[in-house]
Amino acid sequence: MTEKDLPALGIADLQLLLRRKEVSAREAINALQKRIEAVDGEIGAYLSLDIEAAIKEADKANVELPLGGVPLAIKDIISVIGQPCTCGSKILQGYRATYDATVIRKLRAAGAIPFGKTNLDEFAMGSSTENSSVKLTRNPWDLSRVPGGSSGGSAAAVAADIAFGALGSDTGGSIRQPAALSGVVGFKPTYGRVSRFGLVAFASSLDQIGPLTKTVRDAALIMNAIAGHDPQDSTSLNEPLPDYAATLGNDLRGVRLGLPKEYMIEGIDPQVKAAINAAVKQMNSLGAEIIDISLPHTDHAVAVYYILATAEASANLARFDGVRYGHRAENPRGMLDLYGRTRAEGFGPEVKRRIILGTYALSSGYYDAYYLRAQNVCELIRQDFAKAFEKVDALISPTSPVPAFKLGERTADPLQMYLADIFTIAANLAGICGISLPCGFAEVEGHRLPIGLQLLGKPLDETRIFQIAHAYEQSTEWHNARAPIAIARRDA
Ligand code: GLN
Repeated sequence: MTEKDLPALGIADLQLLLRRKEVSAREAINALQKRIEAVDGEIGAYLSLDIEAAIKEADKANVELPLGGVPLAIKDIISVIGQPCTCGSKILQGYRATYDATVIRKLRAAGAIPFGKTNLDEFAMGSSTENSSVKLTRNPWDLSRVPGGSSGGSAAAVAADIAFGALGSDTGGSIRQPAALSGVVGFKPTYGRVSRFGLVAFASSLDQIGPLTKTVRDAALIMNAIAGHDPQDSTSLNEPLPDYAATLGNDLRGVRLGLPKEYMIEGIDPQVKAAINAAVKQMNSLGAEIIDISLPHTDHAVAVYYILATAEASANLARFDGVRYGHRAENPRGMLDLYGRTRAEGFGPEVKRRIILGTYALSSGYYDAYYLRAQNVCELIRQDFAKAFEKVDALISPTSPVPAFKLGERTADPLQMYLADIFTIAANLAGICGISLPCGFAEVEGHRLPIGLQLLGKPLDETRIFQIAHAYEQSTEWHNARAPIAIARRDA
């Protein structure tokens, strides 16, 4: 394996070489840095790199640790001590995190090396990464298209072989949807499974951190490191931690998979539909039983989400007032002027739209009609899933109704953009776990665009979701397909 080819590897493959001492952690980082210099100008995945600190850590890496010596990319909404944490917003320009998020502390304890921060929609609000106030990120499969969002930088970095693996965050689909559009694996844990301490809050009751990787096994390896109880996050669950990577197998005998009829709606791209149908057949041939399921309140998920998420965001973003972090308006004439101008200058249009929406939904007189009602419907959506999981072990659907769309295509129409998450949002409302993994390609204007398959699982049943996803993945060749800009894969 030459230095040039190294970044093509995933986490498990890199580890093998590190443990055999065929490469050193420093060589891995150097190779990654060269590759980033060569291609990230075109992709735009990274907002900042910290090569110097990474090399220092690499030189003392213990490769026998579970992720020993493995460099990872981190969505720029997760705090890494001493590093910028822009959240893709002007309001955090110049701010540096003063502590490590719990997931970063845990990654370091497992031997991993956080070495760069990736682009995102401002405060994780969006589905294309175009809401970043810093830069554009392009889809590695077709540079005229979006990588998905909001964890678009992490997804594009993994797809373009400028990261071995990455962390993202998912409030309504922001790990799974960019994973689908960029042709990588993205995993959203059960709410409370992974600590949110050090994740800048968007909608605290929905946010979860999770991995974006080249394979299902790699996602399980990252989950092994980051999952678990954290006294610093009062919503974190204190439940036993399985070894997610230990039980991956190849057959699906005895597994019952539910096909929610509400998810095979009109408006799904025919090539996406065909790929999902083929994947269902494939799982069936591996032994899974396929059962038709109904989730009757699905239609309301997007509306409920945009009330609850904006309500929480309006409260969470109140802290950006020009006093504590980042940007501060010049020569304020008083406190209100400082707050007002700092926020007017610092927040982009989508963030402002959501603060206004959320404040409205929470205001007295409208609270009952919007917020409370949305909470009640959210409970019905949760019950839909609970009932479905009495009959099946997991649910299958497309991750996104369409493959990657063109840059600029949806920016003028926020509602169109909101629909990008129509299949991912309900999982956050219900607090369950889910994964997106590659299941085929759409041919569009001479480009091959990845299609993602979503599997949703019961709360805390991530082990089973990894098992099912891995069995499917290993029975297909989709995960070996490479974006045109990626490195042609040779066997490690
Ligand atoms: N696209 C959805 C939104 O804009 C979900 C974002 C996310 O999961 N962070 O809110």
